[in-house]
Amino acid sequence: MIDMAVFKQFQEAIRHLGEMAQPEPLTDAARLSRAKAVMHRKTDRALAMDLESCVNCGYCSEACHFYQSTQDPKYTPTRKLDLLRRVHMRETSAFAPLHRLFKPDITVADLQEWQELVYDSCTECGRCSMVCPMGINIARGVNVMREALSEAGLVPLELMAVAQEQAGRGTVFGVGPAELLKAVEALRAQGIPIPLDEPAADVMLVTTVIDVLLYQDALAATARILNHLGLRWTLRSAGFEAANFGLLSGNEALQKAASQRLIAEALAVGAHTVILPECGHAYPALRWEARLPGGAPLPFEVLAVSEFVGREIASGRLEVRSGDTHQVVTYHDACKLARHGGVIDEPRAAIAALGVEFRETSPTAELNWCCGGGAGTFLINRAAPLRHKAWEIKRQQIDATGADAVVVSCASCRLNFMAGAETDQWPTRIVSLVELVADHLPDNGTPSAPA
Ligand code: SF4
Ligand code: SF4
Repeated sequence: MIDMAVFKQFQEAIRHLGEMAQPEPLTDAARLSRAKAVMHRKTDRALAMDLESCVNCGYCSEACHFYQSTQDPKYTPTRKLDLLRRVHMRETSAFAPLHRLFKPDITVADLQEWQELVYDSCTECGRCSMVCPMGINIARGVNVMREALSEAGLVPLELMAVAQEQAGRGTVFGVGPAELLKAVEALRAQGIPIPLDEPAADVMLVTTVIDVLLYQDALAATARILNHLGLRWTLRSAGFEAANFGLLSGNEALQKAASQRLIAEALAVGAHTVILPECGHAYPALRWEARLPGGAPLPFEVLAVSEFVGREIASGRLEVRSGDTHQVVTYHDACKLARHGGVIDEPRAAIAALGVEFRETSPTAELNWCCGGGAGTFLINRAAPLRHKAWEIKRQQIDATGADAVVVSCASCRLNFMAGAETDQWPTRIVSLVELVADHLPDNGTPSAPA
């Protein structure tokens, strides 16, 4: 059960986030040179091909929720790469001397203008690339732009504040080991065993500030499922935060450091599996982009909790009660899980086992519309009106199914759905997948004998 008072407190905290940021005083020349250095370093062969091969067909615009909801040409996906493209064409492409005759160099004013285009109005959802006839990876280019702007000290203040907190104190929104312990003790008081800081475990569970502060039921539900399966698992207070503000802000060093905290704890306990909470961007950050310090692949599997739960149900290891509900539900595929990560069948396997009436959205799965709040845009205050316009596409898509409830498996999506629902007085229930599954455990999550 969501405490709406806590949700409103969280929204209020976001309104003041920017005040905590400490922008780096840099000259315009330094900002430009730092941004360009990142652009040059990151323009590998694949990105160069992407920058050179756009045929301006416009298909990507039709796929982008920010363009679709505003019809504003400035939100055309391919345009979001224009600065990167201009730098590449003028300075590193085969015909650079020729391009220098016709294309002006980029300026700090350009970088400042592009801040809105790559943070507020791109969730790096990847939907545009699904329709691009040239296969251009716009989300990757946008992420490179975020890295360039981060290096130039031009991250939106809200994201800058949280990234600085995570890089400095190691906390996010003030949540560190003490706050985790408090949440764990609150759940233990409800009779839910939560192993914390066990020295050895087969499974390491990672949680996130959002679950600690707001969606504790999701953490409780995951614990009940792991306990029910009889797994030897643990949370680790030295490495529990899934949210990676290095990835979201474009600070590559912080992204690596935040991932290394989790990796170090997983290695310390000897985990063979790391389970991530309902957090979309945590999945690419740890599963696809993280490596051991020397560059080797991670020696353990990384699963999103929706992927884990669906897999356990499909294998028969996790039994759930079926047919005791008359709900009509639909499912929202989080972009980072479904489109980027391929986690499509597992959540559906979990929902199918519950005996609810399930209705797909149209389009769905890897072509599903983004909710508009991912990649940190939910925290950018000035982006709220634009985000809400994009969310309206999502709302209409869900409404068309006639479902009573939409099941989600990403806390960022859940926040954006809640904000949209609050503004629109939208009656559809927003339900966490892991909570829904835990509510259908045969014995309400009583532990089995250890496996
Ligand atoms: S990645 Fe998503 S939000 Fe960004 S330009 Fe493409 S469709 Fe739009
Ligand atoms: S769909 Fe691809 S080729 Fe067409 S305008 Fe967009 S990025 Fe360019």
